[in-house]
Amino acid sequence: MVVSICLAIALVAEILFSRSKLQQAREENQASQTALADLQARYSLEQQEVAQRQDALFDHMVEGVVILDGQGRIRLVNAAMRELFGITVDVRGKRLIEAIRSHEIQEIVNEATDKGHVTGRDLVIAAAAETKYFAVNASSYEESEAEAGGIVILHDLTTFRQLESGRREFVANVSHELRTPLSMIKGYVETLIEGNVNDPSLQSRFLGKIQKHSDRLTYLIEDLLALSQLESNQIALSPADVPLQALVSRVFDDLQDKAEERGVSLSAAFEDDLSVWVDADRIIQVLQNLIENGIKYGRPEGQVLVRAKLGEDRFVVVTVFDDGPGIPAEARDRVFERFFRVDKARSREQGGTGLGLAIVKHIVQTHGGRVWLEQGDEQGTAFSFTLPAQSSVQCTEYS
Ligand code: ADP
Repeated sequence: MVVSICLAIALVAEILFSRSKLQQAREENQASQTALADLQARYSLEQQEVAQRQDALFDHMVEGVVILDGQGRIRLVNAAMRELFGITVDVRGKRLIEAIRSHEIQEIVNEATDKGHVTGRDLVIAAAAETKYFAVNASSYEESEAEAGGIVILHDLTTFRQLESGRREFVANVSHELRTPLSMIKGYVETLIEGNVNDPSLQSRFLGKIQKHSDRLTYLIEDLLALSQLESNQIALSPADVPLQALVSRVFDDLQDKAEERGVSLSAAFEDDLSVWVDADRIIQVLQNLIENGIKYGRPEGQVLVRAKLGEDRFVVVTVFDDGPGIPAEARDRVFERFFRVDKARSREQGGTGLGLAIVKHIVQTHGGRVWLEQGDEQGTAFSFTLPAQSSVQCTEYS
């Protein structure tokens, strides 16, 4: 009997012990499941963050990128590509041609699928606003054992091409501008050498022409050098406080003979003590170009007037007016371009290089100012530009 009781107690104890073991095992299992779930949640959060970072990187790429799956359907397309092709809806899963409607790109993708990759293929997209130029690279990648996906990257070369065509146009213009006076000089010299001109008055007229065209070449080369130095920032300004009156008077003196030849009167209207913080030589060049244009292209017996006032943000606004025929509306946006002339023959006859206003714009901008053609009435022309006011004006306003 005692033995059976002992056995029963031992059995109960063992059952209780096993139960507590089971409970402990259950708790441990629960804890490791919770830890596993935590780990999984953390991993998926990290995965999400990585995917977000990759998406952001992909979307911020300046190149247009599209990734295709093994069946030629769009898997991913970045913001640059969407903007380029005006894609506003979700195109994932669509065929490339449905989404971007470019047979050229589709052909490049097909070629990349055959050959493995295609590099630097030229692509021109003529849009209403502007024609864009691209270099297209495409590669295929192994999507699965049986299928190859594709990556297409579009590098925008538009700015580069525009610069290149601007440079070509500039070289062509310079060559033309140099050749014209040179061939005139050559023509007059040949006539003189061949002795066809025996009349001394004709000889002196021819020599006068040679001198005029040599001067034109000199002005052109000086203007080209000035422009090239300004454009490559080779000119260091030496600014100082200068009374504007002194600069304008100096230019009026220099141009007095030219003005008298055309019967043009020169006048200024601004406060005597108005001073500017500028490189005097450079601003003389600006005033000279604008006032001389007023004399050359303005009305004979007309007027050129320089006004100035202290404007906003510690800048002085200077305006050069003339009462000539003005600049036609269709030419207004182009007058600051190199070699642009409203009337080519008139500009040449006046010894113009077509570079004066481009130089004005550069010098003013180098001083932190801006230059523009006033909207004005039909009659007359008014060019305005801003210059930093004298340093004491700046100090007063800062204090
Ligand atoms: P240019 O050496 O030919 O004078 P600019 O760059 O100074 O070159 O001027 C460009 C063109 O703008 C001129 O050829 C002329 O046709 C026009 N222009 C400039 N200033 C005036 C003005 N005050 N009135 C009318 N046309 C002007």
